[in-house]
Order: sequence, then structure tokens, then C-alpha cells
Amino acid sequence: EQGLEGEADTEEALEPRPPVVTIMGHVDHGKTSLLDALRKTDVAGREAGGITQHIGAYMIQIPSGDRVTFIDTPGHEAFTSMRARGASVTDMVVLVVAADDGVMPQTIEAIRHARAAAVPMIVAVNKIDKQGVNLDRVRQELLQHEVVVESLGGDVQEIQVSATKGTNLDKLLEAIILQAEILDLKANPNRAAEGTVLESKLDKGRGPVATVLVQKGTLNQGDIVVAGAEWGRVRAIIDDMGIPLTGAEPSEPVEILGLSGVPGAGETFVAVEDETRAREITEFRQRKAREKVTAAAGAARGTLNDMLARIQAGEQKEVAVVVKADVQGSSEALGVTLGKLSRDEVKVRVLHSAVGQITESDIQLAKASNAVVVAFNVRATVQARELAVRDGVEIRYYSIIYEVADDIEKLVRGKLAPIQREKFLGYAQILQVFEVKKLGNIAGCRVTEGVVKRGAGVRLLRNGVVIHQGTLSTLRRFKDDVKEVANGYECGMSFANYNDIRVDDQIECYETETVAAV
Ligand code: GDP
Repeated sequence: EQGLEGEADTEEALEPRPPVVTIMGHVDHGKTSLLDALRKTDVAGREAGGITQHIGAYMIQIPSGDRVTFIDTPGHEAFTSMRARGASVTDMVVLVVAADDGVMPQTIEAIRHARAAAVPMIVAVNKIDKQGVNLDRVRQELLQHEVVVESLGGDVQEIQVSATKGTNLDKLLEAIILQAEILDLKANPNRAAEGTVLESKLDKGRGPVATVLVQKGTLNQGDIVVAGAEWGRVRAIIDDMGIPLTGAEPSEPVEILGLSGVPGAGETFVAVEDETRAREITEFRQRKAREKVTAAAGAARGTLNDMLARIQAGEQKEVAVVVKADVQGSSEALGVTLGKLSRDEVKVRVLHSAVGQITESDIQLAKASNAVVVAFNVRATVQARELAVRDGVEIRYYSIIYEVADDIEKLVRGKLAPIQREKFLGYAQILQVFEVKKLGNIAGCRVTEGVVKRGAGVRLLRNGVVIHQGTLSTLRRFKDDVKEVANGYECGMSFANYNDIRVDDQIECYETETVAAV
């Protein structure tokens, strides 16, 4: 993009920089408490005169003189939405697991996200001040998710902490510094600044305020910067204690004032040589942004067609897949089968393979990694489906392993046949079942979303799992045959060659359309 990435730095120009850490974990396991407690360990004494500002990130100095930056927006959303925008700000993840609660759903999500981002993890077992905690249980649970802590022979550091009592925070910080040394984090401070916008807002008194993380170079007061599609002369640089600075170096999070508008979180910023250049870049970006908005919906990076085009152009070397299946056997078989399809030119990477419905978290994971979601005999939740549409993530529904393998293999080889794409029509709920001689069972339903159409494809869902896939063969309103029935209305349905229907089963109705391959 407009040659914004400056020249590569030579090895000699690089200097060590502090690690940037994100804290993740299940709700109530103590992320906020830990962030607060760590912040108080700062020995730089900058408190004098300063008032703690909430700017979405802070940097502390530990007794050894080393510094660490924490992204102070706990939660996976911040992490994944950044990554979805292509920004990688985090060097490592501290996974907080409450000792008394163990591995919980969001813990697993966090593990998955850290893995997809390929950043190392440190486990902070929190709340060890509580009575009767069982650390072995926590370790075993982590092991089940392939997080092997050092005491079990793995390479993941595990630190036992109490955020509220302040226990072992020094050990946790040491672990972070050790991990940072292994990563050998470096940047050139002597060049024009580049970095990522962490947060931004419009402040009544101060105008647009952006919290940015400097990742390369030094940001100086008076610099002309472009951030996303905004630009401006940096009027002030303020640290997380509210103290004005004249400059900020790599890994330093600061607030900047002086931008023309509010850039989005996850957008990059870069200092440029003059206003003309800044105008040029922002105009280019604004034009791009407008084009994006007007581009047809669904033309997202995650669709198979889109991936195919990039594979054919040699621009994509990996097909990432998220697999959700109805039973463990299928999810494992799919994981193995897909893994084997890797070729020298294009690899297949199964980011996640599990049992259950497709949730928003799966869609977020897929979006952040440009992955396709393979649904094997399972469905997406309503929220997940909406998110997938909004974010342009493709969910492919299958019930035969061979077909999944076939599609992905074709994709890897760069020759996908015309794609059968599914178009969602509607949902109906079975309220009553009538046995009718000769005809078999008729489902008395209410349409709960969209429309249902005679002749369309149907899936019968029982507790979120597909138990039948077929055709909607008859559709009636009262005694009349009808072509379609809309949301809110009741109707009678029967399915071609299928009778096992029950009250409370859900019916999903869809059409397939053939989309020509690129
Ligand atoms: P978050 O949702 O992960 O940000 O969790 P919070 O930091 O809000 O903590 C959730 C609850 O756990 C709060 O009531 C905290 O006081 C409590 N808590 C957090 N850390 C500890 C700890 O080390 N020991 C004990 N006993 N309670 C803790």
C-alpha cells in the first residue's frame, strides 16, 4: 500500500524493545484484577504528579530496569478484532486461569486465539490464596488442550499468583522477561515512527485522541502522522500517567493529539515526511475505504472463491480451516484428513477442530485468520450466522467427509469447480406432529425467521444437531398447498421419505445456488 512500510532495518540498527503482553482468560478469573495489580508494581515512580489514565495500554518498569507493556483492554474481542484487521500488536499472551475454577470455555477460546496468532503463552494460575485449590487438576485440564506446563515436561511457563493479594507478581514479570528474551524482541528506534492504533475517541475538549502503540522508530511531538484514513501534526504525546512526553519509542503506548479525525482500532499509523505526503496517503486510503463500502457484500477474504483466486495468483500459501462436527469421531477424522492435504505450494492448516454448534467465537477465529468454517452435521447459532454474514466468513455445510476433503483438495490445487453456495431462507419450529395415513407424519410448524419454501432444502435440527437433511416436499396453509410461508405464520410440512419428527425440532430451510468458480 503506497510503499508505506519503510525500508527494512539492518541488523545493526535494531535495539532490544520491551515485550507487549495481552492478558486473556475466562470471565471472572481475574484479568482486570491482575492488570490493576501489575500496574501498581511500576517502580519508575512516574506516579508523582501523574494521575492514572485509562488509555488502553500501560507500560511498567520492574526493579531490574526492564520494561513491559500491557494491553489494558482485557478480553478476546480486542485481540481478535485487531488481528482481523491484520494488526499484530501482542508478543505474548498471559493466560489467566482461576485455580478454583480451572479451564473454562473462554480459557479454551483464549488458547485457540493465541495459537492462531502464533504467539507464546504464559499460564498465570490465579486465586491461589483461596482454600483447597487443586493445581494438578488445572494442569491436567490445560494438558487436555495441549498446553503443557513445565512441571509436566512442556515448555509453557506456569506461575501461581494471587492478583488480589499481590502474590508472585514479580515471578510473573520475570517469566514475561524470560519469554521476551527467547523471542529476542527488537526494533529500530532511529527512524520514522510506525505502529498501531489501539483505541481512539473524540474528546470534547481535546478533539480526536488516539491511543497508539509505537512499534518501530520514535514518535516525536511535531511529527506529521497518518493513522488509518486520518492525518495530522502531533500536537501532544501523553503517557498512561497523563504526563506529556516529547517522544515515544518502540513498545511505548501513548495518547496522541492533533489528528484530523478518529482512526479505527487496529489501523496502522506512520510518521511521514510532510503534509503533502500525508494528504496523498489519506486521500488514497479514503478512496479505498469508499470503494470497499460500495463493493458487493460477501466479497470477503474468507470465501472459498476468493481464496482460490489468491491461490491461483500465488498470493496465498495456506488454507486455514475451522472444523465443527456433531461427534468427536468426525471432528478428529476431519482434522487428520484435511491435515494430509497439505502440499509443498499450499498448506492446509486446521486451526481448530471440535464438537458442537458454530459459535461467534468460531467466526471470530476464522475471520482473524482468513479461515473457512467447515460445519459437519452441525449448524451455526443465529448470532454466529449473522456475524459470518457481516464479516464475510464462509461457512460450508457438509455431511460426508469425502466431500469436505474433495473441496479443500481442489482448493489447495487451485482448481475448485463451480461452488454450490447455500442461501439461508428461514427457520421454523415444530409445534405439533400429526400422523396422517398414507402421507406419514406432518409437522405443524410456525415460521420463526425468514421464509420456508416448498421444494427447498431442509435440515431438521434436534438440540442444534442435524438429524436429517432433505427436501421440503409438502407445504400447506390450512388445507391449501402453498409455495412459501413467511415469518410469523403457521403451516404444515412434510419431508420427502422422512418421518422421524418431533415437537420442538427446528427446521432450517435453504436454497443452493451455483456460483461459477473464478
Ligand atoms: P475478570 O472478569 O477476568 O477481569 O476478573 P476480575 O478481575 O474482575 O475478578 C473477578 C473476581 O475475582 C473479583 O471479585 C475479584 O476480586 C476476584 N479475584 C481476582 N483475583 C483474585 C485472587 O487472586 N484471589 C481471590 N481470592 N479473588 C480474586
